[in-house]
Amino acid sequence: MDEAAIEAKGLAPLDPALERLAAIPDAQALARSLGSTMRADVDVLNNTNFYTANLFGLWVAQHLDDPGRYLPFLLQGGLGMPDRDYYLDASPRMAEIRTRYQAHIAAVLKLAGGADADAKAARIFELERLIAEAHVARADSEDVRKGNNHWTRRDFDDRAPGLDWQSYFSAAGLESQKEFVVWQPGAVTGIAALVRDLPLATWKDYLAFRALERAATYLPKAFVDEQFAFYGKVLTGTPKLRDRWKRGVDVTDAALGEVVGKLYVARWFPAAEKARVEEMVRNEVAAFGRRIDRLDWMAPRTKLKAKAKLAVLRVGVGYPDKWRDYSALEVVPGDALGNAQRASLFRYRWNLRKLGQPVDRGEWVMNPQLVNAVNLPAMNALNFPAAILQPPNFDPSRPSAMDYGAIGATIGHEISHSFDDQGALFDASGRLENWWTKDDFAHFSASAEALVRQYDGYRPFPDLAVNGKLTVSENIADVAGLAAAYDAYRLSLGGNEAPTVQGLTGDQQFFLSFAQSWRTKFREPALRQRIVVDSHAPAEYRADTVRNLDAWYTAFSVKPGQALYLAPKDRVRVW
Ligand SMILES: [Zn+2]
Repeated sequence: MDEAAIEAKGLAPLDPALERLAAIPDAQALARSLGSTMRADVDVLNNTNFYTANLFGLWVAQHLDDPGRYLPFLLQGGLGMPDRDYYLDASPRMAEIRTRYQAHIAAVLKLAGGADADAKAARIFELERLIAEAHVARADSEDVRKGNNHWTRRDFDDRAPGLDWQSYFSAAGLESQKEFVVWQPGAVTGIAALVRDLPLATWKDYLAFRALERAATYLPKAFVDEQFAFYGKVLTGTPKLRDRWKRGVDVTDAALGEVVGKLYVARWFPAAEKARVEEMVRNEVAAFGRRIDRLDWMAPRTKLKAKAKLAVLRVGVGYPDKWRDYSALEVVPGDALGNAQRASLFRYRWNLRKLGQPVDRGEWVMNPQLVNAVNLPAMNALNFPAAILQPPNFDPSRPSAMDYGAIGATIGHEISHSFDDQGALFDASGRLENWWTKDDFAHFSASAEALVRQYDGYRPFPDLAVNGKLTVSENIADVAGLAAAYDAYRLSLGGNEAPTVQGLTGDQQFFLSFAQSWRTKFREPALRQRIVVDSHAPAEYRADTVRNLDAWYTAFSVKPGQALYLAPKDRVRVW
């Protein structure tokens, strides 16, 4: 927050790094410099983040065929824009963004005071465009079966010549690692060849630009504004930069996630609330188990495997059992950039240390202060951070029917992901092994088809419909989650009816609370973008999940001819 001190220092905190880059004499030093930028900043299966601006990104996670141990997963990177499409797509909109991006590169180099900024920007852009050509498309990256490629250290020299891998891995702290998972082998081969084929001077300019971009948040206002002008305004249409203190909270969250989380939990998440949510989870797991028993489409032996997986599902509520130790991270007052750099290196080393250790299934991938929830497929675990356990999702001072309708539906949603077409790829131990039969898949796909049609029918704008196919997995999880939450809520009543509150029956409270949990506002351009790229339907239509539950029709006496009415044969029941 000390902007005056940051202005006064100017570029000085970054000068030593820029001087080192300018002095790189040869390919070996270049490889070392590239390796030193590697960070643990990608995640294939949990938070699903395939993007890093560094040449490659590291994810340390379980061996997918031997889930007792960790392996380093290497992912493609090196682009300043979000995806290869931004470099290669021929549409006028993308061409316009490319022009603006190249101008942004030049503007950053000019702010840093270098000569020949425009010519350098053109070469840097061309380098990134060539990296983009080597990249694998997003849809392929998301396919676990295409990504699980094991390379020995030797394979890098044989299959991806051009980069001095010894120097690269040594600078990345991975010199003693013998086995890697290379998620996009073609990209690793292509990028390594570019390191050999393009002039050293271009790589040095590229690295200097990358260093400026990484540091921009912590540099004087001119750098912050230039970064926002491109990444905020051009790329996402955001009209105004958020208040500095809010960006500061995000930065602190990223650097000291579980330190902040521990304070958050002590203040806002008492043990009694954790116990209450854990009881809801037990009821939902039981309800889900009964649903599996009753399924008519799943083969008996698949059901046995599903029940076995459910029995060892690990559900984390609020915060991890064991807090991360940050004592090795040095925080220096007055050194914003240095603190950010040390925090990112601390996180990287923390991940490197996992290699060679037994897998810790109690590890969390979300901070307790984040309003979100996640299924960790290979760990067969779920995280429900403390921050999502507050109104409108959860509130111990209201009738429990409302909690089951809101956070209960989310709990059911996440549980169901362990047993859907994606969950079918990972067995109870997290091993990548399909435990469904062909017929199971066929039946599942047929139900999915009906839901695709249902969501294709929703039109947020006259010229733009929800994409039923893109959102089908999440819509299935919504139907399954709401159904399991309803069963669990009924189970919690032990055969009685819930008390009527303000004239509303328990079932009405349950469904109203579900609808309330989806109240959301979007600007039109942002909503249009989400409809194109988001695998979740817009919140309004997630609330319409109720149309597939018979209990909702009874609760509100919904009749044919009313807007949301579906005939019983059109209601989709997957689980
Ligand atoms: Zn989901």
